[in-house]
Amino acid sequence: IVKVSDLCQTFYTKDGELEVLKDISFSLNEGQILTLLGPSGSGKSTILNILTKLLKPTSGDININGNIGYMFQKDHLLEWRNIIDNITIGLEIQNIKTDKNISRIENLLKTYGLWEYRYMYPKELSGGMRQRVSLIRTLSVNPDILLLDEPFSALDYQTRILVSDDVYKIIKNENKSAILVTHDISEAISMSDKVVALSKRPATVKNVYNIDLRQNEDLTPLQTRKVPD
Ligand code: ATP
Ligand code: MG
Repeated sequence: IVKVSDLCQTFYTKDGELEVLKDISFSLNEGQILTLLGPSGSGKSTILNILTKLLKPTSGDININGNIGYMFQKDHLLEWRNIIDNITIGLEIQNIKTDKNISRIENLLKTYGLWEYRYMYPKELSGGMRQRVSLIRTLSVNPDILLLDEPFSALDYQTRILVSDDVYKIIKNENKSAILVTHDISEAISMSDKVVALSKRPATVKNVYNIDLRQNEDLTPLQTRKVPD
């Protein structure tokens, strides 16, 4: 559903050239979760920006089959809109604000502990709450492919397990695909089918691990991540 071939990215700044990505190749099958792991500054967010076509790569090919939902590393919430109105903005832009979408959003707000905050403004919320709002906004448009840039990084341990588990179930139960960026190795192992480890800048693909959760159940340090039948 996603195929990346020989991706290269060099930025030209006033301080000179910065080579960030060097021949990055990987692929993601439908229904799978792929995690990008790599040191800070290696170019993980850059890869997601290229996949969403916000950034044109210096060279290389990308192939994507489906509509994308992108959760940025920064939450990009609009300070002048309340929480509900921040979440529905994606629906408004795409003209798909229906009762079904709204009830989906209401359920997510309840599950992620934000229901009481829905008429508040972003500045009244903590960093972790803002991150959950941003996540709900991404899920609200019901994309086939989720690109999630450190989606749980601002959450405390308990909330992190709750929310990551819920996101995992949404992806698997609704047969979505996802590319996840995280620095948390246990999260990478417990959530993904494939881990692509990048080297430090200029990033190359250092290793690709295929993870079979059925074989690794005793390795999952968080909750058991079996999908209900
Ligand atoms: P982190 O884990 O800290 O989020 P990352 O792997 O996501 O890091 P990127 O944000 O992709 O890293 O950035 C990779 C490198 O490219 C960094 O050195 C960054 O400063 C540089 N960079 C990113 N975007 C641009 C740009 N538009 N112009 C110039 N340099 C950029
Ligand atoms: Mg990043």
